[in-house]
Amino acid sequence: MVRKSVIADSVQIQLAMQLIELGARLQLLETETTLSRERLLKLYKEMRGKSPPKGMLPFSADWFMTWQPNIHASLFLNIYRYLQQHAQLRGIEAVIKAFQLYLEQLPPASGEAPLLSLTRAWTLVRFYDSKMLRLVECSQCHGHFVGHALDLHQAYRCGLCHSPSRAGKKKKIIEAEVKAP
Ligand SMILES: [Zn+2]
Repeated sequence: MVRKSVIADSVQIQLAMQLIELGARLQLLETETTLSRERLLKLYKEMRGKSPPKGMLPFSADWFMTWQPNIHASLFLNIYRYLQQHAQLRGIEAVIKAFQLYLEQLPPASGEAPLLSLTRAWTLVRFYDSKMLRLVECSQCHGHFVGHALDLHQAYRCGLCHSPSRAGKKKKIIEAEVKAP
């Protein structure tokens, strides 16, 4: 049996704590850290004062296609891709950083609640990495938006260029962010 490094172990605990603080579900913690389920449960309970919600993650790829989640998901994924390309961040580190930057784009004063949780953002990246989802360019504003990889996207118009009328107010708040190059 390999002797466990104390430092490596504490790095994993730090990572798990950071993820729990950002709202990670147990399944994410189990996938992204090397800590046992028992230790994760203990850590979670200690930090949150309660057990994590049970059960599988309910998220399907279709959730990211509905109007407002799509705009939030697109904002997050654009940040994530930018970090991959320019900051040499990989894996869960890139997800964490991108999620923090996503939250910063939605300050409480803007009235725009963050629709993505960390676990949803992480799920989105997994769909993206497994090529179930991709970024599609809007033919009108040329921003990049989350779309199904297999759908045809000719003359695609995004949710900001082609939005339900009641959405007009919220639209402006994050429009600039998604459309930024
Ligand atoms: Zn557009």
